[in-house]
Amino acid sequence: SADNAGHARIPLPRDLFQPERINSRGIEFGERAAVNRLVTDVATERVSAVPVNYSGPNDVNRAVTTARDGFSTWSRAPATERAAALERAADLLEQRSARFIAWLQREGGKTLDDCVSEVREAADFCRYYAAEGRKLFGDAQPLPGPTGERNTLRLRGRGVFAAISPWNFPLAIFMGQVTAALMAGNAVVAKPAEQTPRIAVEAVRLLHEAGIPVKALHLIQGDGHIGAALVAHRDIAGVVFTGSTEVARSINRVLAGKDGPIVPLIAETGGINAMIADATALPEQVADDVATSAFRSAGQRCSALRLLFVQEDVADRIIEMIVGAARELKIGDPSDPATHVGWVIDDDARKRLDAHIARMTREARVHFAGPAPSSGSFVAPHIFELDDARHLTEEVFGPILHIVRYSSSALDGVLEAIADSGYGLTLGIHSRIDDTVEAVVDRLQVGNVYVNRNMIGAVVGVQPFGGHGLSGTGPKAGGPHYLTRFATEQTVTVNTAAAGG
Ligand code: NAD
Repeated sequence: SADNAGHARIPLPRDLFQPERINSRGIEFGERAAVNRLVTDVATERVSAVPVNYSGPNDVNRAVTTARDGFSTWSRAPATERAAALERAADLLEQRSARFIAWLQREGGKTLDDCVSEVREAADFCRYYAAEGRKLFGDAQPLPGPTGERNTLRLRGRGVFAAISPWNFPLAIFMGQVTAALMAGNAVVAKPAEQTPRIAVEAVRLLHEAGIPVKALHLIQGDGHIGAALVAHRDIAGVVFTGSTEVARSINRVLAGKDGPIVPLIAETGGINAMIADATALPEQVADDVATSAFRSAGQRCSALRLLFVQEDVADRIIEMIVGAARELKIGDPSDPATHVGWVIDDDARKRLDAHIARMTREARVHFAGPAPSSGSFVAPHIFELDDARHLTEEVFGPILHIVRYSSSALDGVLEAIADSGYGLTLGIHSRIDDTVEAVVDRLQVGNVYVNRNMIGAVVGVQPFGGHGLSGTGPKAGGPHYLTRFATEQTVTVNTAAAGG
């Protein structure tokens, strides 16, 4: 059954992936099950089965319990030691980049460019958090106080962190979450996306090899049910989650319903990311940046452009140029270096996107419907024009661009529509009027704003990344405040007059 040449992806039988059930009173599980994740060898287009052990409730419990044990030693290791392990992990990632690139292609269906930059990003996270961690988790910080008293403040790990990650950056986001939690002195139980389990196995092996104690870092595999069980475990001290808004909400509900300590959630979620192009924008650049932002990575970046507002005086010209740029994109085998748009992650995703395209084709004006290979999980780039931005109410996670025209007097309405979506992840502005740019940046609560450039890319330590509202809780990954959220603060006040008494 694993042999199926010609199909880039085959859908997995649903029941294989759901050995656990959730009932209305809580969580109930079946037996531990071994499932085969099907992956495609892009070179031969042959699909093979990679065995993945699905974790059951006992595995979750065992992992968390052992991690508690691991926490007591790891949290006391000097920050320099923890940082050194992360730096070794970065070195190992670079030495083994070819292997990780191959897995990102096989399991993630990513283009070569995307794989290369993802391995680099994963290494960047390790080095950045190591460097930040040395500063934050070194010696206790002295605070002012009256004579006869010494005050210090220090950051310490919280305990066992649950790290739950998505499939779209199965290496970089996975490593970013895990290394941040570890650097802050926590033990970690990580639950990667069910679509990309093998990459996580490789990443955890590498971290152990780099010096993270086995007891301080555990991996459990499974879908949302196992993620929910992990979050619900009584000994979880914090949760870091990246994925959809809907799942973040459900995690929040589980945490809110738990007895015991208040457990913080750090969530990075989706967005309906907009770009505004006014009449002063440079059309060629807009077209280029829009095509990159909306279609690269098959639109499967949380930062990707979904909704373009273009001022009506220049709309026809700009739309024509965007369509021209979209036509140039090569869609197909992601292992071919010439490919711009590879697969979407699996057949379920393709079906969801196809349904959205069918609806838009009926309800909106079609400017472009690209060609896609007939077999495999491909979704061709599409460009639709809507008469009202409010027709787009949910994140569409694929290479589909929606355009809305606005008149020069209606910029306020555009900003309102963007704000009303409730999301606040990325925003693009193309304008050569500084006042317009400033007003837009000022009015919108959006995490990452890109001015006169494309909207993809957030370099670790350079463009800290994360959103507001429905898009996440902050603080930003790859930014100076991120690690502090994984830690608790401890103030120690000593009566120095009594010292030596
Ligand atoms: P998803 O929410 O479906 O799944 C994410 C993870 O949560 C997976 O590991 C999944 O198994 C797990 N999960 C599912 N249900 C759960 C539950 N009830 N309890 C606990 N865990 C559960 O998201 P996805 O499809 O893997 O990823 C795509 C989404 O991620 C998009 O919405 C995208 O915008 C978002 N994303 C955001 C960022 C960011 O930085 N803001 C980055 C990447 C992806």
